[in-house]
Amino acid sequence: MKAMDFLIIGSGAAGLATALGLTHFGRVAVLSKDQGQDSATLWAQGGMAAVMKDTDSIAAHIQDTLNAGAGLCHPQVVRQVVEHGAAAARSLIAWGVPFTRDERGDFHLTREGGHSARRILHTADATGRAIEETLLQRVREHPDIFLGERHFAIDLWVEDGICRGATVLIPESGQIERWPARTVILATGGAGQVYLHTSNPPVATGDGIAMAYRAGAEVANMEFMQFHPTTLYHPGSTPFLLSEALRGEGAKLHLPDGSTFLERYDPRAELAPRDIVARAIDAEMKHHGLDYVLLDISHQPAAMIKAHFPTIDARCLELGLDITREPIPVVPAAHYTCGGVVVDSHGRSTLPGLYAAGEAACTGLHGANRLASNSLLECITTAAAIVADLHASAAHRPQPGSFPPPPPPPSRASATPSDALHRLRSRIQATMWRAVGIVRQDAPLQEARKQLEGIGAELQDLAETSHGLRAFHELRNLQQTAMLITQSAIARRESRGCHYNEDHPQRASQALDTIMQCDWPAPRQRPIPPEA
Ligand SMILES: Cc1cc2nc3c(=O)[nH]c(=O)nc-3n(C[C@H](O)[C@H](O)[C@H](O)COP(=O)(O)OP(=O)(O)OC[C@H]3O[C@@H](n4cnc5c(N)ncnc54)[C@H](O)[C@@H]3O)c2cc1C
Repeated sequence: MKAMDFLIIGSGAAGLATALGLTHFGRVAVLSKDQGQDSATLWAQGGMAAVMKDTDSIAAHIQDTLNAGAGLCHPQVVRQVVEHGAAAARSLIAWGVPFTRDERGDFHLTREGGHSARRILHTADATGRAIEETLLQRVREHPDIFLGERHFAIDLWVEDGICRGATVLIPESGQIERWPARTVILATGGAGQVYLHTSNPPVATGDGIAMAYRAGAEVANMEFMQFHPTTLYHPGSTPFLLSEALRGEGAKLHLPDGSTFLERYDPRAELAPRDIVARAIDAEMKHHGLDYVLLDISHQPAAMIKAHFPTIDARCLELGLDITREPIPVVPAAHYTCGGVVVDSHGRSTLPGLYAAGEAACTGLHGANRLASNSLLECITTAAAIVADLHASAAHRPQPGSFPPPPPPPSRASATPSDALHRLRSRIQATMWRAVGIVRQDAPLQEARKQLEGIGAELQDLAETSHGLRAFHELRNLQQTAMLITQSAIARRESRGCHYNEDHPQRASQALDTIMQCDWPAPRQRPIPPEA
């Protein structure tokens, strides 16, 4: 493998937007552990928040983001991201993303929970697919971008305290290679697969967060896993998310006896932030011993439902459910990893040579809870910030050719039976769902930590025989990420945003980030930076 200027790990919105921006400044490689399009981005339905009309304002979008973030957003970052929303939208449009327009030709903006205005740009109810497919096409066409599909990054390569590339497994050949680069950008997405119930695609195993942690970068706020209130309850089928835009367009949640309940938890009812809605559903399910509650939009005109939600309508019909005529069963599921690799406003991590963007990063935008549709916005704005920073510093970076030759690759033996790995994976997911889920308590959190340590030890025993197996490395990352979430949850002795601990139900007076670094014996807490 020839040395690259920029090695981008991940081909979702964050990785692809970074790649397209960097081509002016050097050779770019984008790695993707499955097919290029397999990502959370492909699955995003609702859209991307951006202030596009005079009827809306930057101040209102900032305030909504701060409200959702429960005092833990970094105000400077929120301002920067929100102010760049229209520019992010323009970049996507310039790349060819076909956002839905109204009959006058203006962008059709929808509204989601926690937003005080209609400000969600969307492509019907398949916005992520439109973004992913458009950007991926641009990347595939670009002569200066190498797209390595089914290339699995195992670990970052660090020498003299600088990130100099990554170790990459090519599963088809079983080869493990060292890929040197002037700069590495992690865009590996989130970690929803740590949980038994998740809205996330199979690739969301926290790889980048675990890799960065092992390499010595700081990781923050992992306890803030956002649970989406409404995924379709249909045992045995692939997880399927029911966008909050449904509630934005009037869908109501109710119990099997037809009674509504959200108004008892929050005056905003169906439009309350998603952590409040998820906890309310969780409480009602536990109280009534239910497997699910019901979501009903059937009182709206069928033509409107079919026009706005064609993907949801089609998927439900496949499963024998008609959203235009009947309520559908829903459960909450792990949805968005608010924490991640600590980065500054330029996307730089605390490890020199390493940047991070998108769901793998913790910029400070989301605080303790993400506002709906702010994550695609963050992917595109952080990508632009990284491109600007690398452009500015390009002259001062070492040339890739000056790196020492890579050390010999590790052995590729692999003899571990996959059912052993599968069992360990199921144990991690069940433990996390039971003890580190929507509602937490001190004793189960401590118990989960012990169980995860035990699983970590079992994994160590398998390391020698499993080095050539992608499933092993993913499982190692799942276990590491599960530990980061659990340790951070133990350290936070309050309830805030999407971290809710019944033993500490109050919010503390001071807002502190939880930071972890592999050389520290325990997480540290740091005040959020004030707005300059
Ligand atoms: C069902 C669903 C609906 C959503 N709806 C919305 C929405 O409406 N609006 C919104 O703003 N957000 C939404 N989100 C969240 C949003 O989609 C994600 O936060 C965002 O797309 C993340 O983009 P990303 O580029 O960071 O990561 P992803 O799009 O997840 O891409 C990650 C990439 O990293 C690659 N990768 C991971 N590990 C490795 C490795 N070890 N080696 C090589 N490659 C690797 C993967 O193959 C993939 O290409 C939704 C999420 C889901 C799951």
